[in-house]
Amino acid sequence: MRLVIMGPPGAGKGTQADGLATRLGIPHISTGDIFRANVTQGTPLGIEAKRYMDAGEYVPDGVTNAMVRDRLSQDDCRPGFLLDGYPRTLEQVGELDEMLKSDGLAVDRAVELTVVVDEVVTRLLKRAQEQGRADDTEDVIRRRLEVYAEQTAPLTAVYESRGILVRVDGMGTVDEVTARLLIALGA
Ligand code: AMP
Repeated sequence: MRLVIMGPPGAGKGTQADGLATRLGIPHISTGDIFRANVTQGTPLGIEAKRYMDAGEYVPDGVTNAMVRDRLSQDDCRPGFLLDGYPRTLEQVGELDEMLKSDGLAVDRAVELTVVVDEVVTRLLKRAQEQGRADDTEDVIRRRLEVYAEQTAPLTAVYESRGILVRVDGMGTVDEVTARLLIALGA
């Protein structure tokens, strides 16, 4: 299964993707996690990415695409993968298609986690207190939600037109949402 999970910041994507990937026996690939690991290690990629992340903006497509291409070429992705936080722009959608097409593959399913925006801001502020993420301040959260609405939400239409989009209600407990996801994916 080659899956993409989408949804605004704070929708619980990371948590759900983790559980789902374990359940399906495929790697969970979070571009946000990979960027954060690079920031922590102080790599050139991390130094470049941090400028954008701290402002709530997207890291440039060229940088992000190269990173994903490299990750997807690794052996553990052969049976499939769950991409979390990628693609986020139309250009990334096209790039992902190209990466897979060269091996005769395609995205099988895209899942959109839907949420109530006010609820999401509350969740993110709570996470800011618990984890101290640099991009979880109120201003940056609002900017991230705006960027999502402008640049990423429209992408669901692309997957919808291909007939591979499933929408899942992301409100509720972690277990409730996991159960809905498994049903929606027929897993
Ligand atoms: P996330 O953990 O998915 O919320 O991502 C945190 C931040 O990493 C985002 O706000 C962006 O700055 C950056 N990022 C993650 N994935 C991407 C992507 N596909 N394209 C551009 N920037 C990304």
